[in-house]
Amino acid sequence: MHIPTSSLHNQDIQKKNKFHFGFVFLFIVSVGLNVFLLFFDRGNNIAVASLTQNAETLSQTSVIEPPEVLPKEAPAMQAVIEPVSFTVSSTVSSEQTYDGKAIQSLNFRIRNSLNFSVCKRITRENGCAALSAHLGRLMAWFMDIKKSMRNGDSLDVVYQRLDGPEQFKILKLSYKSQLFGKTFAAYYFDEFDHGNGGYFDSEGNEIARRIVEAQSPIRHYIEITSLPGDFRKGPGGHSGTDFKAEEGTPVYSGFSGKVLRTNWNVRANGYCVEVDHPKLGIKTLYLHLSRVKVRRGQTIKAGEQIAESGNTGRTFAPHLHYEIQDRKNKKKIYSPFTSKYHKSYTRKIPPHHHQAFQKTVSLYNSAIKES
Ligand SMILES: [Zn+2]
Repeated sequence: MHIPTSSLHNQDIQKKNKFHFGFVFLFIVSVGLNVFLLFFDRGNNIAVASLTQNAETLSQTSVIEPPEVLPKEAPAMQAVIEPVSFTVSSTVSSEQTYDGKAIQSLNFRIRNSLNFSVCKRITRENGCAALSAHLGRLMAWFMDIKKSMRNGDSLDVVYQRLDGPEQFKILKLSYKSQLFGKTFAAYYFDEFDHGNGGYFDSEGNEIARRIVEAQSPIRHYIEITSLPGDFRKGPGGHSGTDFKAEEGTPVYSGFSGKVLRTNWNVRANGYCVEVDHPKLGIKTLYLHLSRVKVRRGQTIKAGEQIAESGNTGRTFAPHLHYEIQDRKNKKKIYSPFTSKYHKSYTRKIPPHHHQAFQKTVSLYNSAIKES
């Protein structure tokens, strides 16, 4: 007689347990969903926040001279973010060669940043960081890459892979900018001046500027690898211009002045010189030298050799770091190419080399496969 009651009782408990289990299950699912949604949403906010922050850091560094081409009202990056789909094309290896080495091409649209976009197409192991650094170096002559790139801008690159630490040689770059409403192009050419090649636009004008020889801190250099304001060199932006050059290349003071100090903070700067130019209201600094040829207090004439370039201090490769500071505010940095202190110019391909240049341009263009 006992049994039915007890079984009834048990049934009741089982029912209760089922109910409990179902409730707990639903509860877990709903909490999980909430947590997921919260996180997802936060993720988006973080992305936007970091973009805004970038824009802020940029506006704080007022010491950096804006490029001449900068438009007055550059819309903020987040305002123009649109979903961008990548052209699922080929990292094409074409039949073409230049200098005996295979030419490769890549085309893609910008998403988030140059580095992010390149690394979507080429893996880290295959050197996406190096390729994007090469591209950034060249593009810095066209625009402020942090401010002026837009999602959906398109980039064509023709390049070769190298065995050395450089990893890549860019032969052609073509960047279609929505902000500027134009396409920037750069073609590598060295036939008119062997061993001293450079990047030229389709009309044969060099992309990079050069300081006139009499005022230049260095006359023989391979290329300019970083300009003032370069954000790849830390959040404050780069304070100088880096000239990649072999160790032992003569370094000059472009202006007359007096040596203020030498070899301070050698761990970071390497051997270094600072020269005061009171008449101009500036100081010039020369870092990572292999040899200093002047002493503190020494008076120097314009164009006088003061040192040899090197690879000392915090540096990864031989180069001269040249910096122009305001005399009263050392945080105020001037670019040798956009400030009044230096005269600069661009090389032009001489007319009798135009045909060879056009031939080179068509060779590069033929390597590009449209997606
Ligand atoms: Zn530097």
